Amino acid sequence: MTQIPPQPGIMDIALYVSGESKLAGHEQVLKLSSNENPLGCSDKARTAFTQAGQDLHRYPSTDHAPLRQAIAQVHGLDPDRIICGVGSDEVLQFIAQAYAGVGDEVITTEHGFSMYPILARMVGATPITVAEADRKIDIDAILGAVTELTRIVFIANPANPTGTFLNESELDRLISGLPKDVILVHDGAYTEFVDGFDGGAALVDRHPNVIMTRTFSKIYGLGGLRIGWGYGQRPVIDVLNRVRQPFNLSQPQMAAASAAVQDTAFTAHCADLNSRMREWLRASLVQMGIECDESHANFVLARFASPTDAADADAALRADGILVRRVGGYGLPCALRITVGDEDGCRRVIDTLGRFMQERR
Ligand code: PMP
Repeated sequence: MTQIPPQPGIMDIALYVSGESKLAGHEQVLKLSSNENPLGCSDKARTAFTQAGQDLHRYPSTDHAPLRQAIAQVHGLDPDRIICGVGSDEVLQFIAQAYAGVGDEVITTEHGFSMYPILARMVGATPITVAEADRKIDIDAILGAVTELTRIVFIANPANPTGTFLNESELDRLISGLPKDVILVHDGAYTEFVDGFDGGAALVDRHPNVIMTRTFSKIYGLGGLRIGWGYGQRPVIDVLNRVRQPFNLSQPQMAAASAAVQDTAFTAHCADLNSRMREWLRASLVQMGIECDESHANFVLARFASPTDAADADAALRADGILVRRVGGYGLPCALRITVGDEDGCRRVIDTLGRFMQERR
């Protein structure tokens, strides 16, 4: 078949690989491959979604005002400095579109989220990937990679798939070292799993070149609805709104997200379950001889002795109907990323891996 030539660079874009959801031979799959909430979403969000589905002939609001108000109220932010998108992926795309272009450089890190280089290439920019230090973002490596062409630095904090975290003083050091016209994207997809962290909002208040992004896909359990948001200083949000489609979010999406963010009791319950089960999962893995760093997110990174061991452990989990994520594509061929499930889910993972490690001995 003839290929009609696309724009230069398009064929260099890697296709995004998402967590699998089906497993041959298993009707019931324990899906721990996409960092979804094992408790689903808030009942209030589900009800709001259904009710908002009545007037499907109406266009949605273009300015997302009620949703921005709800987010702002719960998080103590200025609603005029919030922008909403189809998942935080879309907000990240707005940033790439608005601030980088052909010939520019966009910095990401060794085990960084795979969308960052994809977004850089989408706008014709060159992704520059810098090394991490023991799976943690290396601030000096980032600062050392900055050139006159650098436009954006993308970091996720906590990071995916490593689960590592930069504290506020480390973030301050990074921002202080960056040129003032380079945008730092602080991607807080997993922020709610860190106790007492504001996701970078205070940094945004202090620095005009910092943008925080957040998602409803993780702790709010609304990955299927595709809603995310960004927070920046007013001039930045004004810029981002110019590359946003006017009707990017539907009314049911916005209604569900508004209800979800206001159901703080549900969120607190999910965060509590996550931190208990995450620590149990990690301690159990370490006890059976699998390496596992402290995680600040809703997953752990289990590190095996070799790529073969990781593949065999994955096969053992699959045989028991459990799907986790192979992260060789993230430069971690010996590791499996395991979403923290509910108590039963975590116990099943540990039972299977316990048997696997026994058989290895
Ligand atoms: N950032 C990070 C670090 C993520 O892991 C993800 C989800 N995999 C996203 C952003 C995108 O999330 P969403 O588009 O569902 O909001």
